[in-house]
Amino acid sequence: MNNALPERLYNEIRKMPVIDTHEHLVWDEEVRCAEQSDVLSEYLLHYMRSDILSAGMKQEDLSFVVDSGKNITDRWKTVEPYWELCRYTGYGRALDITVQGIYGIDGVSGRTIQPLNEAFLAHKKPGHFAWVLRELCGIETCVIDIWTFHIENKIPMFKPAWQPQNFIMPSEPFGRDIMAHIREKHGLEVRCLDDWMEALEREMTLLLRRYEAGTIKTSIAYHRPLRFEKTGYVKAKALFEEALCLWERKRIKNDALLEFPRELQDFMMHHVMKLAAQRHLTVQFHTGLFEGTGNIISNGNPELLSNLFIEYPEVDFDLFHIGYPYQSVACALAKMFPNVFIDMCWAHIISPSASAGALRDFLDAVPYNKISAFGGDYMFVDGIYGHLEIARRNVASVLAEKIGQGVFSEVKALEIAKALFYDNPKRILKL
Ligand SMILES: [Zn+2]
Repeated sequence: MNNALPERLYNEIRKMPVIDTHEHLVWDEEVRCAEQSDVLSEYLLHYMRSDILSAGMKQEDLSFVVDSGKNITDRWKTVEPYWELCRYTGYGRALDITVQGIYGIDGVSGRTIQPLNEAFLAHKKPGHFAWVLRELCGIETCVIDIWTFHIENKIPMFKPAWQPQNFIMPSEPFGRDIMAHIREKHGLEVRCLDDWMEALEREMTLLLRRYEAGTIKTSIAYHRPLRFEKTGYVKAKALFEEALCLWERKRIKNDALLEFPRELQDFMMHHVMKLAAQRHLTVQFHTGLFEGTGNIISNGNPELLSNLFIEYPEVDFDLFHIGYPYQSVACALAKMFPNVFIDMCWAHIISPSASAGALRDFLDAVPYNKISAFGGDYMFVDGIYGHLEIARRNVASVLAEKIGQGVFSEVKALEIAKALFYDNPKRILKL
């Protein structure tokens, strides 16, 4: 196929506004600026870090590489052989595109690491987020996974997706102080399951109202399979009391995490779904691959959620990360359930080609109002630029193919692109 069509589509897509469905940025840029960091420590917070570990680097060596107190040239030399092995993965490519687009520097390498770090540090000041996100990326709104409850938003283009996870399965790092938080924020002393459910409802109401948000998020698949069976109230109440007793005993010795058995987690997930149904919320579910090294991928199979899709038709389910490597399963689910949507966040850098292939399939099988094209899923802002460029190229090339096959016209293709990057996420995530 000649390259003029994808290039023309890409250039038009670049002018379109973007809704970014998912990020992990801090809500206060001054917090980021006050942290000691440099370009290597920030760019290796995640993703490329995981590929480098996968390539075989030892954790101790990586700890040296991300220590911004040490000489950057020495640290680069240590990481360089592994970086070169990872340069052509989605994570590696995103960073090379990023430094070119943001700092005008030709890739991350031994030759560029010094000037790149100087440029990075010169830009490490309040205003950098807005410059990258708005000016360079054309992003209108970012949905931020706030993980926890301790945050005051200082950036107007950010919208939260609150995680109720610590009420379903208290987890590190924030699950530890949840009782203190409930006492402090809601004046509630939790003695039984009813108090716990009340605390969850108050927290949800407070945060959704404060941020005028209609979306919640869960990444619980990192810790357990996504199948949630039904547990009766009487059973759940007894299990909660046992869990509380055990926690109180353990807490005498240390600051133990409140631990829920599987059936109690299941009960709480169904309770969250009931509350979400009453409020017609969208629930963003982490499905598929896990960040980091070493986890059980089948826990994230989106098919496991089927009973929730059936039982809660009023809830909109936004399946994250195309369920990679279960993207065909995600596609079939979105085709079959009116309340299931596909979110391509993180996907274009997990595997650019798998994402393009998946999008080709989605457009053949699923009504296009159900697909959101982009969410950066980064903890550091610069990476979003490179990721979005890969996403735009992917969408342009898949649309160009379909035009070539006579599926739709160029005008229609641009209408679909606008739906994927903007109209769909805005509607699905109730922004
Ligand atoms: Zn994420």
